[in-house]
Amino acid sequence: MNDRLTMLIVDDVEINRAILAQFFAEDYQIVEAGNGQEALDIIESQRIDIVMLDLVMPIMGGMELLSIMHKSEKLNQIPVIVTTSQGAVNSEVQAMERGAADFITKPYNPTIVRCRVHNVMARMENEWRKMEQAAQDVQLREMRHNIEIDRLTGIYNHEAFLAKAASMIQENRDVRYSIAYFNISCFKVINELFNMETGDMILRTAATYFKTIAGKRGIAGRISADQFAICVPKDMLDIELVLQGMDGVMNSLAIYRNLVFYAGIYNVDNIYISVSQMLDRAHMALNTVKGKYNERYAVYDERLRTTMIEEQMIVREMELALDSRQFTMYLQPVFDVETGKPVAAEALVRWIHPNQGMLRPDKFMAIFEKNGFIARLDHYMWEEACKFLSSQRDRGLPVIPISVNMSRLNLYDTGFIEILQGLLRKYNLKSSMLKLEITESAYIENPQQLIKVLKRLQAYGFQVMMDDFGSGYSSLDMLKNLPVDVLKIDMSFVHELEKSPRAAIIMKSIIQMTKWLEMDIIVEGVETKEQLDLLTELGCRKIQGYYFARPMPSGDCMEMLENLADEDIEG
Ligand code: C2E
Ligand code: CA
Ligand code: CA
Repeated sequence: MNDRLTMLIVDDVEINRAILAQFFAEDYQIVEAGNGQEALDIIESQRIDIVMLDLVMPIMGGMELLSIMHKSEKLNQIPVIVTTSQGAVNSEVQAMERGAADFITKPYNPTIVRCRVHNVMARMENEWRKMEQAAQDVQLREMRHNIEIDRLTGIYNHEAFLAKAASMIQENRDVRYSIAYFNISCFKVINELFNMETGDMILRTAATYFKTIAGKRGIAGRISADQFAICVPKDMLDIELVLQGMDGVMNSLAIYRNLVFYAGIYNVDNIYISVSQMLDRAHMALNTVKGKYNERYAVYDERLRTTMIEEQMIVREMELALDSRQFTMYLQPVFDVETGKPVAAEALVRWIHPNQGMLRPDKFMAIFEKNGFIARLDHYMWEEACKFLSSQRDRGLPVIPISVNMSRLNLYDTGFIEILQGLLRKYNLKSSMLKLEITESAYIENPQQLIKVLKRLQAYGFQVMMDDFGSGYSSLDMLKNLPVDVLKIDMSFVHELEKSPRAAIIMKSIIQMTKWLEMDIIVEGVETKEQLDLLTELGCRKIQGYYFARPMPSGDCMEMLENLADEDIEG
């Protein structure tokens, strides 16, 4: 009963009210009022869905009530149908101006009256529905906005980027799209150097720029912290221009710190893979230029994919390879220039792969450093070196010391010294036989830690070599601080010697310096007679390089030492 609509009939003549009430008794709950004031009281105190309003009444006429209702924000929602005697054209106009929904004249024709009321109500319902829909739409839009938009930057977030890019690509199959993935170099440093607000400001500025670049035919999104992506038609994307433009924008922020954006691009050649995979490919391309100074973007291609697959193969197989002794120790002797005989050797790892043949360290070392496997491989190599040393001794050969390479990773694990000592005990060797090569770049990374480790190593009697000296940032000053026994001059330095007289002067002072500091010096990567002569002239005695010998299987090295021993006996 209560869900029926309520009709208020306002007329001072009772019979008129009764006629209307009769027409609508079935469909409406009827309420009656004898004048405008009474009607107003009712309207304000209960829910009324439609008003049938006579114009001429005592106390308060219909026109006055209509005016009041029209001005009230709440009451003007209620439809009012004005009822009056025939020929009152003027009143009709006035009533309409005050928001009357319709106008019917007495005497009532039942069909017409029902029709009119029905139409007004239908119209109202339509209005309500529209209003409700609009309200819902606003709410929905707000909700969607909150879900899709990255709060910090105001562009699409990761999820939304995936969804929008997918539908854009699927809907415009005649357009070829590109996905570009961007990353800021060293953004963490920025956050640490400045404050969060500066970092946020940079991200917002970048986001705005990317959104502008994407324009109407593309989209931009923030994938995570300082990573952005755009998906745009390929012909729109001039990546060099985009990066240049970004440089300009970043410079204008005047942060006095190099903010460099790198990019990786995937040109969508297969629309059936997910956007997430497309992003991965762009990201993969990006990873190849990370940390490089001269390249700022790369485009994904099949070669890159092959490298990735190779990388996965390496990670998948490394454990088995270690267990089944696929890693082999090669040795490259170091020669004394004056005697022409080997005085030491360096252990270099080779992976003898059952299907792929010999793999050199440049194929797998970087991957092992990334995933930490290098620490275990190093331990394995140390043991191989110890085995070699003990078998030299057991065969009564002159024992030359072996140097092993030590990854940076080992420096952070203090347990490695115990491992080394354990090996020496196991093979009954003196610590002077096993030398450790530590690359110069470890010093740059964490000088304090390195100095600490080096001092401990020396305390245990190990000799330490500084590998790759001169390849990077090394300074003569650093030599004073570092307790190392041997300096291994990097091969890039040797190549420099032939080109520049200055390099020769520097080399001379390094040699002087090592004499004062009582350090030994070995020069790596000597390939030609010319290089050898030059170095000998400068006073270098120990040389490692292809000119004398390439890295060789340990068996070959053993043979070489045996032959030398025989020569000595014969000579
Ligand atoms: P590195 O320690 O600087 O080793 C010297 C590299 O130069 C070796 O490359 C060697 O074969 C090569 N080489 C020697 N003489 C010459 C020459 O005259 N000309 C030229 N062009 N190259 C020469 P390799 O064996 O490919 O090793 C590359 C790098 O991999 C090594 O550089 C070292 O950093 C790393 N590595 C090798 N084995 C191990 C290992 O067992 N553990 C660790 N942590 N790193 C290793
Ligand atoms: Ca080395
Ligand atoms: Ca080296």
